[in-house]
Amino acid sequence: MSQYSGLAGAGSNAAQCDLRSDTVTRPDAGMMRAIQTAELGDDVYGEDPQVNRLEAVLAERLGKEAALFLPTGTMSNLAGLLAYCQRGEEIIVGADYHIYAYEAAGASVLGGIALCPVPVRRDGALDPAAIAGAVKEDDSHLAVSRLLSLENTHNGLAVPLTDMAAAAQAGRDAGLSVHLDGARFFNATTALGCSEMDLAGLADSVSICLSKGLGASAGSVLAGPGDLIAKARRWRKMLGGGMRQAGVLAAAGLYALEHNVARLAEDHARAAELAGVLHSLGTGEVSQATNMVFFTPEDGCNDELRRHLAAEGVVIGGGSSGAIRMVLHKDVGDDALDRAVQGLKSFYG
Ligand SMILES: *Cc1c(COP(=O)(O)O)cnc(C)c1O
Repeated sequence: MSQYSGLAGAGSNAAQCDLRSDTVTRPDAGMMRAIQTAELGDDVYGEDPQVNRLEAVLAERLGKEAALFLPTGTMSNLAGLLAYCQRGEEIIVGADYHIYAYEAAGASVLGGIALCPVPVRRDGALDPAAIAGAVKEDDSHLAVSRLLSLENTHNGLAVPLTDMAAAAQAGRDAGLSVHLDGARFFNATTALGCSEMDLAGLADSVSICLSKGLGASAGSVLAGPGDLIAKARRWRKMLGGGMRQAGVLAAAGLYALEHNVARLAEDHARAAELAGVLHSLGTGEVSQATNMVFFTPEDGCNDELRRHLAAEGVVIGGGSSGAIRMVLHKDVGDDALDRAVQGLKSFYG
């Protein structure tokens, strides 16, 4: 079952503890003030001060020449992939990375780009030998290998810099450029204890989401070389992502970068606490990494558990069987976490 199934229509407005995803976060008072007081302009004319500032701030923090604000992470990845690759070229990507599995094959549909999946290791990394083995020779029967696409975090797993570097090097040795889908980039740097530039520096381009753990309502940023970002800007317009007074969103993103990065460690700590409780209940398989907990009830009582928790104001996603993903975020504080813990204990108690 997909981690996204069952997300729709769960009535999250009433929930006191919504663990389905870190995308459910709402702007807090400080973020709303930043939105309300934002000076705005038309970003398609390059005149929105908030968007320009957000792009400059992230380009600098990530050590890239340029950056581009886009409505979603999917469009950010897609505009980047389209900027790198021509028809008949291919992207080597993890078989359950988001770009391969959950972006509706957009690069193939819209760009005539082949996506070549390679297995993802249990630690979330790609094996350098698998990458080397997937690269095509120069042969008219074959697609032209052009880009390696990495992901960090993957299912919450923060992939260590050494593994990232080894994968990137395997790509570079074969003449590929390297893209990083860093939707939860700052969860990765928080968990790895590395600098933003250290992680971003392993790839030519990086896509980050402002709308997940960072708590902004919408928006993603693609950062990379100037010529790539210029091409991606044209693709963004073509894809319908040229927004006008987008500064209302960019202002929230700037606020999030300033106020909500350092606090991600809290989400990781609460995830560890929740995983600890589930472990001690001994009623299924538990794993945890950064802000995510995966719990597979051993008796397959997913639906019963979901109904029980919902009655306690706790919302979880997932299907009728398999692993339930629970995601910690800034709108789940200690009280909300306690509600989830009590709900789990009363279900199994
Ligand atoms: C969420 C996510 C995306 C896409 O972001 P949207 O804003 O939902 O389009 C891309 N990659 C990964 C790894 C993600 O988790």
